[in-house]
Amino acid sequence: MAIEIKVGMNLGKLKTLNELTLENAYLDFPEHFYHRVDPSGLKNAHLISFNPDVGKILDLDPCSISPSDLARFFGGGDVLQDSKPLAMKYGGHQFGQYNPDLGDGRGLLLGEVLNNKGERWDLHLKGAGKTAYSRFGDGRAVLRSSIREYLVSAAMQGLDIPTTQALCLVGSEEYTMREGMEPCAKVLRVTQCHIRFGHFEHFYHTHQHDSLKILADYCLERYFPKHKKQFPKHCAAAYLAMFKTIQDRSIAMVAKWQAYGFVHGVMNTDNMSILGETFDYGPYVFMDQYRPDFISNHTDYEGRYSFKRQPDIMLWNLSCLAQALLPLIERDELVAVLDEYRDLYVKAYTQQMRLRLGLVSEQENDAALIDQLTQLATEQRIDLNRFLRDLCNFQPENDVTLHQCLSHFSHPVAATSWLVAYTQRTEQEEAGFRTRQQQMLSVNPCYLLRSYMLEEAIREANDGDYRLVNTLQSVVRNPFEAKDEYTRYAAQPPEWAGGISLSCSS
Ligand code: AMP
Ligand code: MG
Repeated sequence: MAIEIKVGMNLGKLKTLNELTLENAYLDFPEHFYHRVDPSGLKNAHLISFNPDVGKILDLDPCSISPSDLARFFGGGDVLQDSKPLAMKYGGHQFGQYNPDLGDGRGLLLGEVLNNKGERWDLHLKGAGKTAYSRFGDGRAVLRSSIREYLVSAAMQGLDIPTTQALCLVGSEEYTMREGMEPCAKVLRVTQCHIRFGHFEHFYHTHQHDSLKILADYCLERYFPKHKKQFPKHCAAAYLAMFKTIQDRSIAMVAKWQAYGFVHGVMNTDNMSILGETFDYGPYVFMDQYRPDFISNHTDYEGRYSFKRQPDIMLWNLSCLAQALLPLIERDELVAVLDEYRDLYVKAYTQQMRLRLGLVSEQENDAALIDQLTQLATEQRIDLNRFLRDLCNFQPENDVTLHQCLSHFSHPVAATSWLVAYTQRTEQEEAGFRTRQQQMLSVNPCYLLRSYMLEEAIREANDGDYRLVNTLQSVVRNPFEAKDEYTRYAAQPPEWAGGISLSCSS
């Protein structure tokens, strides 16, 4: 059968930056949805790092990528063809309190790129300068927090945890005040959606129900077309299906956070994407030692966003979104969806942990086995991620692998009992050791983006040396593949790593 190629369809054609044409559907909304403003350039903007995987998504021709063009468009004040950047208005609950005064105060939606697969990807420049929503802020992002966002985007993608991505990181010789004077930088964030729970909350709390409906219809059409088709004549049913999908995706995301020991740090509703992607990175941490009470943000005095509370907070955040949808959906129906959260979460988390343990079949006692492991990890403060990597090679009859696993524990007796129970459980699996080992190695990372690595990279970058930022990018993009040159990053973190403290200031 002949394949029909429509003239002008541009199938597979790669582009230069100058050929990227930006559209911006958000500009068609009423003006109170956004503020139109161009980015302001940074002094001596220069490229620090570029992520080729993200370039591919945008069909950028890798041979044509020029550091000076990236610096000019995503650090200097130049804008891409047809780009009409805008700051989005949103609100949101911060640490439990509603804040009406939020919006893109330092990030700009430059526009959207339609790639050769027909997908639309937003380009959002973080640190782009002041907007109508900057309040008392300077509209800037500092190098420290920009490195953190840039690298973790690649790390999460590598781990297959839903996340926004980042095309490039641009540094400058412009300084601003944070924890002392710090250099400014910009990150180009790439994702299919920049709509937050807080966008809906803004229209609900300002009683703009017509605008709320415009936003919901836009989201249905663009992000959840399946539900629009499912219920073409019944808007409320389509909105409800959309809410349920948002909940499912949020559960899938938070289940992975819990399975990999990731602490977001600032789970305010303005930092929650409706696509269920990890979004707006701040003082996040991949825990070195497994500690359910761990708080990554040192100004979170009450531990609202501690590791163990994340699943409950996600439910709380979804309730805020449900409240904002009350003008469009019956309360009882929303409550019925929220009521399903806990069971769905436990199921999703258990499944993630099953995969990490190499268990393919589902058995009733799996949750207890997982619970015993995290209990042990908590009591003995072990690095669960490093333990699980070693568990991939565990064979009970092989003393070397047994000792390797037990070496993580200060009191190995309880750990030995757990390994016995685990061995009995693996014996009920169809797959043998080799198959299980391969499967486990593909989900248990050798490398994580640990806080000490970030600290080192930031320290060097602040002195103008960006090599470590780029090395870490390579390390975390393929976290499951052990490489001789990166042995140091698979090893136990240095002693000083335990004293690292992070703040929200960025
Ligand atoms: P974040 O802590 O980055 O999630 O931001 C919370 C709110 O503060 C959002 O409305 C941001 O746009 C705004 N914001 C954060 N930093 C700045 C800044 N340096 N200048 C202006 N607005 C900011
Ligand atoms: Mg934010």
